[in-house]
Amino acid sequence: MSRLRRESSRQSVITVELIQFIIQYNAQETQEKKKRRLADEDDELSEVQPDAVPPEVREWLASTFTRQMATTRTRSDEKPRFRSVAHAIRAGIFVDRIYRRVSSSTLMQFPPDVVKLLKNLDEWTFDVFALTEAASGQVIKYVAYDLLNRYGAMHKFKIAPGVLETFLHRVEEGYCRYRNPYHNNLHAVDVMHTMHYCLCNTGLMNWLTDLEIFASLLAALLHDFEHTGTTNNFHVMSGSETALLYNDRAVLENHHVSASFRLMRDDEANILSHLSREEFKELRTLIIDMVLATDMTYHFQQLKIMRNLLTLQEPTIDKSKALSLVLHCCDISHPAKHWDVHHRWTMLLLEEFFRQGDLEKELGLPFSPLCDRKNTLVAESQIGFIDFIVEPSMSIMSDMLEHILAPIAPVIKTKPAPLTEEAVGVAEPEGDDAKLSTTCPMMRKSIASSANKFTINKPWLTCLTENKKIWKEQAIKDAEARALLAAAEAAAEPEADDKKPAAETESGEQKETATEA
Ligand SMILES: [Zn+2]
Repeated sequence: MSRLRRESSRQSVITVELIQFIIQYNAQETQEKKKRRLADEDDELSEVQPDAVPPEVREWLASTFTRQMATTRTRSDEKPRFRSVAHAIRAGIFVDRIYRRVSSSTLMQFPPDVVKLLKNLDEWTFDVFALTEAASGQVIKYVAYDLLNRYGAMHKFKIAPGVLETFLHRVEEGYCRYRNPYHNNLHAVDVMHTMHYCLCNTGLMNWLTDLEIFASLLAALLHDFEHTGTTNNFHVMSGSETALLYNDRAVLENHHVSASFRLMRDDEANILSHLSREEFKELRTLIIDMVLATDMTYHFQQLKIMRNLLTLQEPTIDKSKALSLVLHCCDISHPAKHWDVHHRWTMLLLEEFFRQGDLEKELGLPFSPLCDRKNTLVAESQIGFIDFIVEPSMSIMSDMLEHILAPIAPVIKTKPAPLTEEAVGVAEPEGDDAKLSTTCPMMRKSIASSANKFTINKPWLTCLTENKKIWKEQAIKDAEARALLAAAEAAAEPEADDKKPAAETESGEQKETATEA
């Protein structure tokens, strides 16, 4: 008995020591991690200091895409599970079959013009502005319904059509609440569409389970739910209720995800009611991770982690991190779309910024970067945004997707590699396998395009180059117009020498307002 007690007491000593060691080790680890992160941030900050960018644009980039404070979220790294090609092909067919079945048995009535426009949903640039007219402004109602159907989510997770309609109606309402020019239901659909493109046309969906696909689509749909049309910085600076609730950290992102799950608590709108407890937990964790990572201040950290990971010999890419990066890229993808659509988004976003600037003026707060109607370099800001944010993000996302999908692709490549897309159709196996061609045309094309290295199709590359070219021309014109205006003003006021420069007058006015407030 006594030996047993001695034995057990020795064991407990070991256990206590062991626990103490683990606690100390973890504390050291956390400190190390924190130090490493801060060092990383310093490195990345230097990347937004190029002389080529006007100071105002640099300030906007730094204030929007870097962060001072952060919460450390630890998560065990999950090993990627690569699936067989047979499965990849099945997944493609599954989507195709579900789509056919549902579209033949009409669950919700789609206006004919909407149906016509939804046919473009597989393209890289989808004109949501054209759709909103045909859909009487209810773009979420149709696009989200159609996409959730296509991926078989309604069938797989037993979502009743009426519940889905109610849910989507409320999501649409939430997005329209603040009548924002940019962060509204159209932006939600734009991001969800881009997520669909990434899932389907690159082949990413073949790496994911049905639940992960469902989570990705939902996260994209809900990522800006009830956006107030103002930035996190504005919430913090004005001391809003939401900033108070979330302690100034990822204020809007926390709200988007929290309000979304609150919405789904109501039975009438609960599209998750048939998920098992485990499925719900997994989906919720993924959505929280993905939406919180859309906080733009995580941008450089997120990119750096992925970039470093991809330099390793055998990188293990965590699904949550991969999908978070994809969602972040979808969120900032409009400069990578066709000019007409990109230009429209830019003007809408700037109008939203200007409205915030108007509010800041009213409240006696200093203007946030790009929020002053009278003093914003539109073309330059977009060039900086493309050069330092969008292009690097899309590039790392492409590398990541090619790395993830390469192990799935080679087996498909054993088929004869044809030179043209038409020839791919001929080489496709007969029967069900042939249907893949209608589901993922881009994926097939890119597989055919390289015999050795798997590459995805990157339609954003040409758009980015083209858009940057147009903005550069615009920047020159704008500079000329500003010079002409300044010359005309100088000519109209001969005693201009006595006056202060415009910038000084502006800041002087601001100071007065601030003192009054
Ligand atoms: Zn967004």
